[in-house]
Amino acid sequence: MNSAPYVGRFAPSPTGPLHFGSLVAAVASCLDARAVGGRWLLRMEDLDWPRCEPSAADAILRQLEAYGLHWDGAVLVQSQRDGAYAEALATLEELGALYPCACTRSQLTQAPRNHEGEIIYPGTCRNGLPAGSITRAWRVRVPDVSTHFHDRIHGDMQQNLAHEVGDFIVKRADGLFAYQLAVVVDDVFQGITHVVRGADLLWNTPRQIYLQSLLGLPTPVYAHVPLITNVAGQKLSKQTHAPALPDCGRGAVLTQALAALGQPPPVELMCAEPAELLAWASAHWKIENVPTQAAIANPAGAPENCLTPDP
Ligand code: GLU
Repeated sequence: MNSAPYVGRFAPSPTGPLHFGSLVAAVASCLDARAVGGRWLLRMEDLDWPRCEPSAADAILRQLEAYGLHWDGAVLVQSQRDGAYAEALATLEELGALYPCACTRSQLTQAPRNHEGEIIYPGTCRNGLPAGSITRAWRVRVPDVSTHFHDRIHGDMQQNLAHEVGDFIVKRADGLFAYQLAVVVDDVFQGITHVVRGADLLWNTPRQIYLQSLLGLPTPVYAHVPLITNVAGQKLSKQTHAPALPDCGRGAVLTQALAALGQPPPVELMCAEPAELLAWASAHWKIENVPTQAAIANPAGAPENCLTPDP
């Protein structure tokens, strides 16, 4: 366990406004920090800028404020952090942990896939680029050992990176730094002690722990909260056309988010103002009540419409 004062974070990707699923992750990370008097920081993960929407970062900040989720300090913006990622990449290269990869997506279509549907990299370029080929991406060489970690919601987890993921990309063919590298560099830069985020990233955590170990960085404590799915069982996201959080009836939406996290407010507080609901919720937050399922169906249907208009 980490004994440093609690510093948590919410790290949205500004590909669109927040939806109900991202609200659940934001509320969980905020309450887990506030419940112990910790700090809660914000990071705009606009690393993959071609997928980002120019107005989404501002929209997200306004939505968080409107839902009573007030972060501490300045927002860290990934698109301004290339120098830090380049430094980490150079360290990995000095350690001999990196190698160039020439494989195209189509060359890897026959490679085996893990249960998340990701390609397990077969190591084609591990011992050198095939003659006449050019470097496209950079990969980290992973060892054939199990990475163990404890998730506060899911318990003891393990993954063999070599068998289940393969050597993974830290600098992409389009020249962008990969999420796995940036998240590790930024979590340590922001002094994050506790990561609370969606369960879609549970499977990515061993990659991040491995990078932390290579770079000599501390590993935060992890907790992965359930993803919210739509009626078709798909994760709420921009791709699945999840509606933006409504800008009225916020108390009702927050009540649903708390219920999804196993922290339903008492009847007299249901649909109260966000500040009142969040004050109650941070005083009563119990991470052990968060459901352990990786995904749960949106309890009351996607809050597409205003349930009770705010005054
Ligand atoms: N930016 C990621 C997302 O919006 C979250 C990354 C993280 O919390 O580590 O899903």
